[in-house]
Amino acid sequence: AKLTADDVRSLAKELGVKFIRLQFTDIFGILKNVAITVEQLGKALEGELMFDGSSIDGFVRIEESDMYLRPDPATFTVFPWRPREGGMVARLICDIYKSDGSPFTGDPRNVLRRAIQEAGEMGYTMNVGPEMEFFLFHMDSQGKPSTTTHDRAGYFDLAPVDLGEGARRDMVLILEQMGFEIEASHHEVGSGQHEIDFKYSDALDIADKIVTFKFVVRTTAQRHGLHATFMPKPIYGMAGSGMHTNQSLMKNDENAFYDPTSPDGLSRECKYYVGGLMSHAKAITAITNPAVNSYKRLVSGFEAPVYIAWSGQNRSPLIRIPAKRGMSTRIEFRSPDPSCNPYLALAVCLKAGIDGIKNKIEPPAPCDRNIYEMTMIERERLGIGSLPESLQEAIKELEKDQVIKEALGDHVFHRFIEAKKIEWDRYRIQVHPWETEEYLAKY
Ligand code: GLU
Ligand code: MG
Ligand code: MG
Repeated sequence: AKLTADDVRSLAKELGVKFIRLQFTDIFGILKNVAITVEQLGKALEGELMFDGSSIDGFVRIEESDMYLRPDPATFTVFPWRPREGGMVARLICDIYKSDGSPFTGDPRNVLRRAIQEAGEMGYTMNVGPEMEFFLFHMDSQGKPSTTTHDRAGYFDLAPVDLGEGARRDMVLILEQMGFEIEASHHEVGSGQHEIDFKYSDALDIADKIVTFKFVVRTTAQRHGLHATFMPKPIYGMAGSGMHTNQSLMKNDENAFYDPTSPDGLSRECKYYVGGLMSHAKAITAITNPAVNSYKRLVSGFEAPVYIAWSGQNRSPLIRIPAKRGMSTRIEFRSPDPSCNPYLALAVCLKAGIDGIKNKIEPPAPCDRNIYEMTMIERERLGIGSLPESLQEAIKELEKDQVIKEALGDHVFHRFIEAKKIEWDRYRIQVHPWETEEYLAKY
């Protein structure tokens, strides 16, 4: 059962909580904290704590800046590490409300809530299981993160030399103490690269957990003298970090993607959901892959998707359907990377899938061949498009997609695009090391 405000009050007392961090994210998924003492918890739970929204990226204009934090009691969690002096620290994730008492549509959590509600009106609940990849790097002599790793371990290797193993073990233990059910954790193909997978849950819970996960992983790495990064592609020529999201819809306590009577065990809804995701895939990419650097990951040769296709078998397409059926029937959407705002990412995926179901969007035939080995002509004949190749291209796709725009709402849509255009421009006018290396001597 979900915790209520009363549960939170008594738990805080019982566990000796002194400080509470009220958390929310800006539109880029950056975690924000307002720290209060336990004495203010009552007021906070009543939603009476005000903050100045104009100081938060992408939030509001100065003249409408008073915002209220409404903690979601279900998110109450105590940080397992004990602070140096007195009392435990807990956190509550908050929804953001305007001074007139209405939810703030620029709050990413509200964006996801709206998508969940729309699906709910059709009888669906979305379940999500993310696969979080990240790198652990050493700090340089100045204490700044570097891209050096000392590990020599490959995929799944048991390597005593790996300092990262100890850090990852610690991360898993801490996450478990915070209520995560860890399903797998292993070394990934890149050196210094790791993956931790936790059990699926409903979309809002998972978005909250992803934000918490990143925070725990970073904090724990620091305690081991390492730097954890969710940057999508930290090193050229090596695998990047993805955030594959397994998605399914439940209806009346049953998995709506499963149909035992169909030859492949997949329901019409599942196919339409895939059709919807594929037809909005280009615009979605701006949200699921929001950094300039994200597009350095979406290249061939590193198990990251490039082409808009689906398959039940191989791993090269955008959407893979794992073999499991029954309650485990799901689709694996492979493009997202961990630099995305999980609330927005899950909201646009759900919206696209629901659009597929509403409009009965048939997906193309599955593509069970390795698309990377096809020629361009073959791909064209099969109608296989590609994901955007740059942040700029992705933004242009987002600007054109009315359904995804509606999912984000005007506020987030405009602020997001505005900020990303600036980010792209800052990158565009730079002279990068590659250019000097390529041209300085040549011309
Ligand atoms: N690291 C790969 C990516 O960028 C995924 C590897 C895997 O299949 O787990 O998406
Ligand atoms: Mg992986
Ligand atoms: Mg995967």
